[in-house]
Amino acid sequence: MVPELSETSTLNFEKSINDKASTKESYKTGYEWKIVWRNVMIFAYIHLAALFGLYVLFFRAKYQTAIWFIVVAIPGGLGITAGAHRLWAHRSYKAKWPLRFILMIFQTIAFQDDIYQWVRDHRVHHKFTDTDADPYNVRRGFFFSHVGWLLVHKHPDVTAKGATVDCSDLKQDPIVIFQKKWYRYLMPLCCFIIPTLVPCWAWNESLLYSWHCVVCRYCLNLNSTWLVNSAAHMWGMKPYDKSISSANNAGVAFAALGEGWHNYHHVFPWDYKAAELGNYRLNFTTAFIDFCAYLGLAYDLKTVPADIIRKRAARSGETYEQ
Ligand SMILES: [Zn+2]
Ligand SMILES: [Zn+2]
Repeated sequence: MVPELSETSTLNFEKSINDKASTKESYKTGYEWKIVWRNVMIFAYIHLAALFGLYVLFFRAKYQTAIWFIVVAIPGGLGITAGAHRLWAHRSYKAKWPLRFILMIFQTIAFQDDIYQWVRDHRVHHKFTDTDADPYNVRRGFFFSHVGWLLVHKHPDVTAKGATVDCSDLKQDPIVIFQKKWYRYLMPLCCFIIPTLVPCWAWNESLLYSWHCVVCRYCLNLNSTWLVNSAAHMWGMKPYDKSISSANNAGVAFAALGEGWHNYHHVFPWDYKAAELGNYRLNFTTAFIDFCAYLGLAYDLKTVPADIIRKRAARSGETYEQ
């Protein structure tokens, strides 16, 4: 028996066709991927060297080097999540200058552009999600949103519409301006030189091994951030807004220190937890910010009242069987 199509289901059907058309359309906007070969070679080297670094880390390096790997990797991650993302991009909490300074150093370890550039890209991503102006537009597929966007020239909309995003608050922060001014010296020191030389000086690690462990750490930091733009915009649940691509993805939350609850985050970007769940569920960044608040270094932590979250979920979220 063929069920009759109701008016609503016909509309839904048409909407899904239109959605698919507009998805396809975004590939046909005359945007040619002009490859930046220099970047392709750099990222190819980083990934190959990282694979060797992984081998070195497990089978060749001294155990102190493995501990050092984690000691640098966690701050590198927090520099992006607690610093560039939750503090500077979304202003979801406030931080006293010593914490801002520490987060600036952490963010420099991660080498994902300076804070000003990172925040600008990210604000553009939130304002123009899933359009040509979105720097990591997931409608162009997993590879583009993960790393491909760094290997080609930007779509002109990213630059044109990106110019409409207000970043004046960042110019008021002397620590952001300091980092921007000295980035070309700070970045190599914090991301590569110091992390490579410490194991050589302190426990006589081989320079070759130390370097490859550093590149491996950098590569893992990069990929865990990229997963938020790719995987967390493709796979997962959408309890708060089913019309947007971002989804709650526990795997990404684990890899990106709590940034995988991405359907929630796009609906309530000002929540310092970037998640609705019980405070520390796969959310190391929230634990870090709470600890800083306990020390008096972070304050004005913004959250969303539970009833507003519930109402929004009922209004626009996907429903799931209990
Ligand atoms: Zn996103
Ligand atoms: Zn965000």
